[in-house]
Amino acid sequence: MFENHLPTAELQALDAAHHMHPFTDGDGLAKKGARIITKAKGVWITDSEGEEILDGMAGLWCVNVGYGREELAEVAAKQMRQLPFYNTFFQTSHIPAIQLAKRLAELAPGDLNHVFFNGSGSDSNDTNLRMVRRYWQVLEKPEKNVIISRWNGYHGSTMGAASLGGMKGMHAQGGLPIPGIVHIDQPDWWSEGGEMSPEEFGLTRARQLEEKILEIGAENVAAFIGEPVQGAGGVIIPPASYWPEIQRICRQYDILLIADEVITGFGRTGNWFGCQTFGITPDIMTVAKGLTSGYIPMGASIVSDKVAAVINGSDEFAHGYTYSGHPVAAAVALENLRLLDEEGIVARVGAETAPYLKAKWESLAAHPLVGEARIIGMMGSIALTPNKETRAKFAAKSGTVGYICRERCFANNLVMRHVGDRMIISPPLVITPAEIDILIERALKSLDETL
Ligand code: PLP
Repeated sequence: MFENHLPTAELQALDAAHHMHPFTDGDGLAKKGARIITKAKGVWITDSEGEEILDGMAGLWCVNVGYGREELAEVAAKQMRQLPFYNTFFQTSHIPAIQLAKRLAELAPGDLNHVFFNGSGSDSNDTNLRMVRRYWQVLEKPEKNVIISRWNGYHGSTMGAASLGGMKGMHAQGGLPIPGIVHIDQPDWWSEGGEMSPEEFGLTRARQLEEKILEIGAENVAAFIGEPVQGAGGVIIPPASYWPEIQRICRQYDILLIADEVITGFGRTGNWFGCQTFGITPDIMTVAKGLTSGYIPMGASIVSDKVAAVINGSDEFAHGYTYSGHPVAAAVALENLRLLDEEGIVARVGAETAPYLKAKWESLAAHPLVGEARIIGMMGSIALTPNKETRAKFAAKSGTVGYICRERCFANNLVMRHVGDRMIISPPLVITPAEIDILIERALKSLDETL
């Protein structure tokens, strides 16, 4: 364990001098100093000043079983002693990868029975991008290579994944999207639905996929990718009509459907996978984060019989990572899945925790600053607005008020994230009703202080 022998200010100065943070304005952070997190247990993280902070984001939507599970540490140490590394290339395999692939095939819906291991969510989506193009190439339709995704979707930070994503701010920073990726609009009813009913709006947005396919020509389209619920885009929960229509269109035009379950997988929406919550079965599912509850990096592409038969049935798929199927990560993932299952964590989310959180979360809509409170399972957001009736946006640059609210939350020892002027939660799935009450209390206090 790394003991903290240095004063916080000194750690902050070293951090500013040497550590480049992801998705961070480095100079801005250097001026105020990073909050140094030293340990964690359950849903609580502790900083270098000894403050206990309720982690309403499960780290980055990932610590599903909560912090401090000894079982995961034990299994990692045991695996490191027995076989710390071996790759799954060159005609070899190993027991943790085999067992994990089998377990994921059991848990995944439909005929998603094959697993390609990756290191993260981003590189899993790069795998998917290459795999769907390879699929059509093997079927002698190489021109079927365009992938359709959505504006404001998030699929990761690598060149491929950021191109699949629809974050214009990321695209603007050079060379994105890479060729052969096009975007359609997202199904955000509250912000963009106008006079339409949610169901009508869901169908309208899904049918943009059909329009785009017809524009490009189905013979040129390889796949559609989307998150069952957009996380980083602001917890955008599509109307119930949306996903079944997307699935219908993909089937009609012979286009592969990829569900990016990096956030929604492993209990987050109340079922094992988000696509079960929305009643669809994709051809490929991306998973990461909750696969290991974030204790160690790992991602995977879970692939249908149909796609695997083509990829396995041709010459070598020239793709893979040194850490594909890493034995320590696989052992941790297996143990994590055992905890989620045998301790009834996923089942309890659907039956108890999520309904309790939903009632409390939706009560925030009564606050003068909150235009909408939406939630599904254990992921929710509130929209901050100066006018609930008109759903107006603040005059200040988008995100300014959200940022203030997030800073107030952090000062009140609650981690909530902001996306523009939306505040987001995605707590560990093991959060208790008493801890949910604390979360809501601190959120309300922070909202009051943001006004
Ligand atoms: N896909 C989705 C839906 C995500 O939310 C994320 C990360 O937040 C990713 C992919 C990228 O995963 P990673 O950060 O592990 O590369």
